[in-house]
Amino acid sequence: MARLRCKQCNATYSDSERRWRCDCGGQLQLSDTPPFSTSSVAKGEHSLWRYAHALPVSPRSRISLGEGWTPLIRYTIAERRVSLKLDHLCPSGSYKDRGAAVLLSKVRELGISHVVEDSSGNAGAAVAAYAAAGGIRADIYVPAANSPGKLAQIRAYGARLVAVDGDRGETTRVARRAASEIYYASHVENPYFLQGTKTFAFEVAEQLGFRAPEAVVLPAGNGTLLLGAFLGFSELHAAGAIDKLPRLVAVQSAACAPLAEAFRGTSPEAGDGEGSAGVAGGAETIAEGIAITAPALLDEMVRAVRTTGGTVISVPEEEIVDALRQAVRGGLFIEPTAAAALAGTRRYLATVSRDEHVVTVVTGHGLKAPEKTASLAGGAT
Ligand SMILES: *Cc1c(COP(=O)(O)O)cnc(C)c1O
Ligand SMILES: [Zn+2]
Repeated sequence: MARLRCKQCNATYSDSERRWRCDCGGQLQLSDTPPFSTSSVAKGEHSLWRYAHALPVSPRSRISLGEGWTPLIRYTIAERRVSLKLDHLCPSGSYKDRGAAVLLSKVRELGISHVVEDSSGNAGAAVAAYAAAGGIRADIYVPAANSPGKLAQIRAYGARLVAVDGDRGETTRVARRAASEIYYASHVENPYFLQGTKTFAFEVAEQLGFRAPEAVVLPAGNGTLLLGAFLGFSELHAAGAIDKLPRLVAVQSAACAPLAEAFRGTSPEAGDGEGSAGVAGGAETIAEGIAITAPALLDEMVRAVRTTGGTVISVPEEEIVDALRQAVRGGLFIEPTAAAALAGTRRYLATVSRDEHVVTVVTGHGLKAPEKTASLAGGAT
């Protein structure tokens, strides 16, 4: 039986409790989850639910729109062959559907009819989509200053948008106050979200014939994909389904790179646990989806990268724009944030031998911000 375990004081709670954090205020993680088993993969299920046996959610409560089991294609970056996972093809247009599908399924299993989340972008859209599919009310808190275009998708799903005066950090604080009454379906703090994002690792491994690549390059802001991939690859390794952990290479925008600083040991302090986010010191980046100044799970992100022998790469703005242009002009319409991973992959490839098998990912669809994507990619000249 899966249990909720506090990362701070080690207290445990039944997974049938409607709670998202410990009485001591600590964050929870799941322990004693059902182990991964290659022979239990439901081969006929063309979604992340092919791994239902390793997910701590009852099959009867499942909310699914066909998320996951995304293509892994061969792709060329800087004249090198890599494998590219197309997670922008998830139903709401980003990989966050992995976390939202599993989290909202658990919400339904717990009999909860109303959730709160804070996000201005893809996480809010994913939670709103799966709440809609499951007939669950969702209040999504967003910074009032956010561009209205980003909020249209969230509103279209029928979620209640709550505009907060203040920055991304203030938005999280207000949402957490609301979460004393309403279940907090946070993509950063609710432990079920990572249970969904771990399926990214399951799929990469299975699509490679249950072999781990040498490295997986991922964009990182709050770390929900990085930590999910780490969890997934660790479960695969523990189950003997792969014989090594791939190096996890996290990519940040140079304009906002707290993980890169912490990894190099230059950061004075770790995240403040508030999940505060925003663009540091006025620095601007087109990779706004990973511009998180104080990630709540920073220490865990550093540990995940270190444990796998990976590294953190921060990419300058021109290289992100260049990677976006190359992807779009090559037929892949990706959102600007997603281009950061491709730019980071280019940098990583320059440092390793040609025969290293590298996997990277497209995290978000260009149709999320079509004008911005198109204008950055540039037209025919
Ligand atoms: C959320 C997101 C990321 C990064 O995820 P974190 O959990 O913040 O590390 C990367 N790309 C896109 C498109 C996203 O929406
Ligand atoms: Zn505790």
